Amino acid sequence: MLYLSTRGHAERKHFCEILLEGLAPDGGLYLPERYPQLDAGVLAHWRTLYNGGAPGGYAALAFELLSLYIDDIPAADLRALCEKTYTQAVFGTAHIVPLKQLEAPSTDSGQAGFYLQALSNGPTLAFKDMAMQLLGRLFEYELTRRGEQLNILGATSGDTGSAAEYALRGKRGVRVFMLSPAGRMSPFQQAQMFSLQDENIHNIAIDGVFDDCQDIVKAVSKDLAFKRAYKIGSVNSINWARLLAQVVYYFAGYFQASTNDAQAVSFTVPSGNFGNVCAGHVARQMGLPIQTLLVATNENDVLDEFFRTGVYRVRASVDTHETSSPSMDISKASNFERFVFDLLGRDAVRIKALFGDALAEDGYFDLSADPAFAQAASRFGFVSGQSTHADRLRTIRQVFERYGVMIDPHTADGVRVALERRDPAVPMIVLETALPIKFADTIAEALGRAPERPPQFEGLEDLPRRVQHLPVDAAAVQSYIAQHGLAS
Ligand SMILES: *Cc1c(COP(=O)(O)O)cnc(C)c1O
Repeated sequence: MLYLSTRGHAERKHFCEILLEGLAPDGGLYLPERYPQLDAGVLAHWRTLYNGGAPGGYAALAFELLSLYIDDIPAADLRALCEKTYTQAVFGTAHIVPLKQLEAPSTDSGQAGFYLQALSNGPTLAFKDMAMQLLGRLFEYELTRRGEQLNILGATSGDTGSAAEYALRGKRGVRVFMLSPAGRMSPFQQAQMFSLQDENIHNIAIDGVFDDCQDIVKAVSKDLAFKRAYKIGSVNSINWARLLAQVVYYFAGYFQASTNDAQAVSFTVPSGNFGNVCAGHVARQMGLPIQTLLVATNENDVLDEFFRTGVYRVRASVDTHETSSPSMDISKASNFERFVFDLLGRDAVRIKALFGDALAEDGYFDLSADPAFAQAASRFGFVSGQSTHADRLRTIRQVFERYGVMIDPHTADGVRVALERRDPAVPMIVLETALPIKFADTIAEALGRAPERPPQFEGLEDLPRRVQHLPVDAAAVQSYIAQHGLAS
């Protein structure tokens, strides 16, 4: 399998060549040159391999799927990487991604089942562990094979940074420099990151907001001489390997909610950068019978606006709201270009005109008059909805009272939109993207009580912390990396 850029088809690359890269050199995103098509036989075989989530089933499924996209890692090595990653020890259950049934299917009323899919039982209690844990092992594998080292530089508002640190802690050949806005992550998130004592993990609290952190990362990445001298890499959500790892749990969710491979199932995905739901799109393009991909946003409704109107309009910083589902607070959706590439028949010239030129000049583009726009729903199954702070609080209460299940504010955005828009005749799976303990303030506001705390996190906030405070200054960050990074 070769990979191309959404902005040009010229140079095609293998998986391991793009693994350690971010954007393609032309500014586009990497995608496989085609999606492997699964016939009924393959789907039935994968259902058997997954075996209802029996021990080893998820790793076996992951290996089968990844092998279709990775042809430059020997099969035995790839299988071992999957088996080491997707274990009960790392993800809490042998199932890895079990469904929680909120409403049972009923043949009497013709109502299909309503489920949460647990994706948040990894080390940092958010779905990003699902991909990042594999990415950490792939990085170590490939860097060792090349005899190279890498300094990972990133900015986080909470979930990405901790998932990256827990995936890369103690890994050979990698150091992590993670910028976060000082005092702005939830207390639990701060404790999760700053309590890591691993020598290769560097937490840097910037005296600014998340945008300041991102600007520093951009400034450092633009300094090509520095970037080369210190081998700066990233693990952000546009990385294809992350997206690919996420495709697997759509299959696992499907097998749990359906009894045979003819049945269609829908997913609701709490969305920000469009990485998670784009993995659902890939699964659907491969032939997984997904009826609807329901994109749920919070008040930052860039994506909902597009699917309602055909207009994609990037928000300015001042128009980007700080909400109680902060991991969905985005001004633009960095993976969205991948979907639009497919929507427009993989026309790289048009993608360059839209994402390279129109967004840079006008800050928006408008596909409402393009016949392709109607196909977002009719051919690709995309529908959207949005939710507010008041909706989240109400939904957290409703789910707790009605089903006895406590959900986090991001998952609540999903449940709220799913309840509003689902087709009762089709099983609906809402992806649970984080656990409530990460966002205790909002849970207390909704339920008047503290969230449940998994036992392994007792006393987390009291552990000693390892964090460096720096001003909003790219030069200060560069000199910190120069002192503590791995030289190339
Ligand atoms: C990252 C994140 C999201 C958004 O996922 P995208 O892939 O950016 O769309 C939603 N919920 C939680 C808890 C997250 O950490």
